[in-house]
Amino acid sequence: MSARVPVSILGATGTVGQRLVALLDGHPRFEVVSVVASARSAGRAYGEAVHWRLPGEPPPSVAGIEVTAADDTPAEGARLALSSLDPGIARDTEERFARAGVLVVSNASPHRMVEDVPLVVPEVNGDHLALLDAQKRYPDGGGIVCNPNCSTIGLTLALAPLHRAFGVEAVEVTTLQAASGAGYPGVPSTDLIDNVVPLIPGEEEKLAEESAKILGRLAGRSIEFAALQMSAQCFRVPVTDGHTASVSVRLGRRPKNVEELVGAWRAFAAEHGGDGEPPLVISEAPDRPQPRLDRDAGAGMSATIGRTRRCPVLGWRFVVLSHNTIRGAAGGTLKVAEALAAGGRL
Ligand code: NAP
Repeated sequence: MSARVPVSILGATGTVGQRLVALLDGHPRFEVVSVVASARSAGRAYGEAVHWRLPGEPPPSVAGIEVTAADDTPAEGARLALSSLDPGIARDTEERFARAGVLVVSNASPHRMVEDVPLVVPEVNGDHLALLDAQKRYPDGGGIVCNPNCSTIGLTLALAPLHRAFGVEAVEVTTLQAASGAGYPGVPSTDLIDNVVPLIPGEEEKLAEESAKILGRLAGRSIEFAALQMSAQCFRVPVTDGHTASVSVRLGRRPKNVEELVGAWRAFAAEHGGDGEPPLVISEAPDRPQPRLDRDAGAGMSATIGRTRRCPVLGWRFVVLSHNTIRGAAGGTLKVAEALAAGGRL
C-alpha cells in the first residue's frame, strides 16, 4: 500500500497545473489521484484532455486518470488539493473542497488577502501556517493556504533577509514579466512580439499588499502587516519563463558596504539551503541575472540576485529573477505542501 499522501490537482490542464503534474511525477511524499479542470476537459483521460506544453509527454501515472469537473464532489481519500484554477472559479471551488475536509494550497488570488488565510513563502514566513488554526469554518482538517503572486515570491525572497537585518522602509520595483505568467494561450503573440506591454491588471496592487502581509508578523490569530511603502510598475515582456524585478530599497539601518548587504542574503541562503535548493543565488557577474541563463537555477526554485549597487535615490538597488511557473507557482505550492506535511498538518 502507498504511504504517499493522495493529492487532487485543481486546474491540472493549465500552465501551472501541468508543472504541478510534472513536479509530482515520482514524488516521494505525494501521489496524484485526481485531476480537475473545466467541463471542456471533464470526462476525458488527462493525457487526451491536456494540451501538454512541457517537454516530453504527460507522466503515464497521471495520463490515464479521468478529468473531473470543478463542480464535481471532491475525490474520495484526497486529503490535499493543489489548486491552479482560473481565478474566476477558484474562490467557490476551493471553499467547497475546504468545507469537505480537504486542505487546499492555492495559486489563485481570491483568498490571498483573507485575514485568516496564510500567504506563505515557507523560508520567509512558514510560521504564518499557524493561522490555519483560526479557520474554524472548515471541518475535519479542511482549510485554505495561499501561494503568493509569482512576482511577489521572488521579490519577498530578496526583501526578507534585508528586512530582518536592516528593516526595509521603502521599495521601488519594476517587474518584467514573462508570457507564461498570463496562462495559456495568454497574451496574443501579435501583441507581445517586438513589444513591451506596460499593464498587467491588478499586479501592482498585489505586489504591494501581498509583500506587506508576507513580511508581516504573526500576532495571535492575525498578521501585523509590515509597514513598508512600495511603488510597483509591472510590464509584460516577450520572454517565455522567468520574471525579472529591478528593485531599489531604503533601509532603516544602513549597511556599511555592499558586502554587509549581500551577507544578509548569503546567510539566508545558507540557513534555508539544507539538503534542498537554496532559495537565493547571488551572481557576481556584471550582466546577470538573465531569464534564459538563470531561471533554472536550483531546478527553478532559486531566485537569482545580481547587480547589487548603491542607489542615489533610495540607498541600494539590485535585480532579482525567479522562474514564475516553478518557484512562483507550482514549485512554490509544492514547497508549501511539504511544509504542511513536515508540520504534521496532513
Ligand atoms: P491557465 O493556463 O489558464 O489554466 C487554468 C486552469 O483552470 C485550467 O486547468 C482550466 O481548465 C481551469 N479552468 C478554467 N476555467 C474553468 C472553469 N470555469 N471551471 C473549472 N476549471 C476551469 O492558467 P495558469 O497560468 O495555469 O494559472 C492558474 C492559476 O494560477 C491562476 O489563478 C493564476 O492567476 C495563478 N498563477 C499563475 C502563474 C503563472 O506563472 N502562470 C503564477 C502564479 C499564479 P481547462 O483546461 O479545462 O480549461
